[in-house]
Amino acid sequence: MFIAVLELLIAVGLIAFPVWLWAGSLAASLSALMLLLIYAFAQIWKLERLERWLAAPQLHFDPPWKGNWLDVALRVQRLVKQLDLKAQAHEKKLNYFLQAIQASPNGVVLLDDHARIDWCNNTAADHLGLDPQRDRLQHIVHLVRDPVFARYFAQESHQGEVVIDSRSLSVSQVRKLSLQLHTYGDGRLLLLSRDITEIAKADAMRRDFVANVSHEIRTPLTVLGGFVETLQSIPLGPDEIKHYLQLMSVQSDRMQSLVADLLTLSQLEGSQSPGVQEEVSLPDLVNQVMSDAHALSELLANQNQGRKHALVFDRVPMVNWLGAKSELMSAVSNLVNNAVRYTPLGGLVHVTFQQTNDALVLSVKDTGPGIAPEHLPRLSERFYRIDRSRSRDTGGTGLGLAITKHVMQRHGGELRIESELGKGSTFMLLMPLSRVTPQTHE
Ligand code: ADP
Repeated sequence: MFIAVLELLIAVGLIAFPVWLWAGSLAASLSALMLLLIYAFAQIWKLERLERWLAAPQLHFDPPWKGNWLDVALRVQRLVKQLDLKAQAHEKKLNYFLQAIQASPNGVVLLDDHARIDWCNNTAADHLGLDPQRDRLQHIVHLVRDPVFARYFAQESHQGEVVIDSRSLSVSQVRKLSLQLHTYGDGRLLLLSRDITEIAKADAMRRDFVANVSHEIRTPLTVLGGFVETLQSIPLGPDEIKHYLQLMSVQSDRMQSLVADLLTLSQLEGSQSPGVQEEVSLPDLVNQVMSDAHALSELLANQNQGRKHALVFDRVPMVNWLGAKSELMSAVSNLVNNAVRYTPLGGLVHVTFQQTNDALVLSVKDTGPGIAPEHLPRLSERFYRIDRSRSRDTGGTGLGLAITKHVMQRHGGELRIESELGKGSTFMLLMPLSRVTPQTHE
């Protein structure tokens, strides 16, 4: 600044002094004044340009002058550049944050200090049926129209979470959502949503399962307790005692089968799927099941004074199944035993084998009562029975088909059921060909 003033004074002196020598002091003063005026106008013009540039600063500012204004301009330009870089870095960071929230499996809604939607990720939009653009600045309670949420929102401190039913645009069935509100910043709110449909389903299944198991165990226990009390309190003859003991033995067998099936199920659920190392001979397996089925049919025929079933087994393919022998045995025997148990005496049970493009199918067809279509999808649920007393009378636990389905899934296969009321049923095991190998004879 000081140098600029000195330069100006020297310039005025260099011009005014010769004028003073040549034309006198008045002319010198006028020329000095003119020079100062020109200088002042030049400064105002430069200031004007600088001001205009500052109003909309561009990064590449190249003024056609030198001196103080250029220094100021360059310094401002440097500052603008630095601020611009900083702003870019912040924007990048903000984008990363938003992308991270977008990638979250949970829904996130940022609300302003009036609880209006500021931003939401796609998951939240899907959960709550929001449109991130259209619904901006809408009050959250106007869009999440659930009384439970409205009550939760109205609380002073939002502790815990609430669960609401939601029917979003993309999913037709009702979903269970857990919603949580958190305060942040200066009175702003963060709304988190989590889809807990599967967790709620699993929870309900677990509760049902425990209730079912308790019920199944309590029934024979009550009966056993009754017999024990009778034996203790009433004097009975040896024949009557024998009769009661026999009835007690039936109940304890029932409990034993139930516990055995429960253990099998929990082992199936808690272990890895069987590998393909073990070779299970299908003819041997079917032979074993066949002789058990004959024994069961004979027992039922003796108990009910009827005629045995006709048990027809087609020629078994000479193949091995690759998997866990005990599991596969229980899958096949459950189907054949069920066919014998649910088909009236004298009826037909027919076991056939068929190869499709991708599986070897073992079918168990019976001439039993058949199953109404509404029961078919639920048959392999644990403890689902159509005729509870028939299942109990024949020693059923209600877990056989659940075990069979599980076993087949663990082997990459499938349990398929076809049936028509009054026309018998066909239960099929589809074993993938990748787990079927021909038997080699030495
Ligand atoms: P359970 O021990 O009761 O037999 P399962 O899981 O093996 O249990 O079978 C479930 C239900 O499916 C049975 O209670 C019965 O109502 C029905 N069911 C199974 N197999 C047959 C069949 N071959 N014919 C008719 N109903 C059957």
